[in-house]
Amino acid sequence: MQRREILKKGLVGLGGVAAASTIAAPAIAKERVEIAMVATWGRDFPGLGTGAQRFAKRLSDMSDGRIQVTYYAAGERVKAFDSFDEVASGNAQMYHGAEYYWKGKHPGWAYFTSVPFGLTYTEMNAWIRFGGGQELWDELGADYGLKGLMCGNTGVQMGGWFRKEMNSVDDFKGLKMRMPGLGGDVLAKLGGSPVSLPGGQIYENLISGSIDATEWVGPWNDELMKFYEAAKYYYYPGMHEPGAMLACGMNKTWWDGLSKSDQMMIEAASSMENDVMMSEYNYKNGAALKRLINDQGVKLRQFNDDIYDGFAEASEEVFAEVQEHSDLANRIHQSFVTARTDIGAWAEISDQAYLQQRNRALGG
Ligand code: CA
Repeated sequence: MQRREILKKGLVGLGGVAAASTIAAPAIAKERVEIAMVATWGRDFPGLGTGAQRFAKRLSDMSDGRIQVTYYAAGERVKAFDSFDEVASGNAQMYHGAEYYWKGKHPGWAYFTSVPFGLTYTEMNAWIRFGGGQELWDELGADYGLKGLMCGNTGVQMGGWFRKEMNSVDDFKGLKMRMPGLGGDVLAKLGGSPVSLPGGQIYENLISGSIDATEWVGPWNDELMKFYEAAKYYYYPGMHEPGAMLACGMNKTWWDGLSKSDQMMIEAASSMENDVMMSEYNYKNGAALKRLINDQGVKLRQFNDDIYDGFAEASEEVFAEVQEHSDLANRIHQSFVTARTDIGAWAEISDQAYLQQRNRALGG
């Protein structure tokens, strides 16, 4: 039976799955699974890259090496933004990346990383797991031959680095700022010029004056980029990526051919990274923020209501365009709005109300 199943699977030609069992193997022996995993991050990039590498190693370790993952950072096998095609085509089985990089293929992808005025980490998890988010993600992915799983999060991102104080929404007119995703489209609606640059090119463009401002992630990652050498004003909170979720994207045909237990092992490893990466960001951001202010003279500022109202109005214009794209884009947007309304109403009187009172009462 075991042998017949293996032979049958071999005949349908499952890419990347090698039948290592022999006739004499015990009945519990399982197939070795080989995974080529590409990524949109540079090797050892803290948080995003190291999280992806930790996920790859975990998959091998938790299966005692039966699942063999060969990890390729950006540029080691394909360029960062070619990860999508590499996996959709079946050349590689898996990528780790941010789905909003594919918004040019379909705007729906943006919702599975983060959108302006989007969901926080806990809200995103609730939407994906219980609010219909995963089903819509699966529907979108199937159109491209992909299957995605939650696999990390940066949490609320900072609003960005500016050379001068930002006092009104008019200050964004003519501002050349690095901001990818739908957030960049919001900036454009305000009269700014969004620029999309890979992480490795932001610093030189900011120092040379080619761009006026930039967003990146948060204190831990931004400190390493040394943006404070060119721009001292560090604004919060970012409206553009309030909880950027990272994804494990897989070739759907390959995924469908895996055993149930192998699928569950990948789901478990991916879900664990979703949690571990968020924990790491939360822990390291606090200490890094203190160093930026105390050691580097960074001036921390909060966006005022006028600016936030301008962001909100512009983001509605961007969302109106997204909904016109297609039936699926409209359904993803509607499901997202329902989640933001319902889960957000609970967050307002739970996490948000509690943190406000805790910090007020303790004078913090
Ligand atoms: Ca960012």
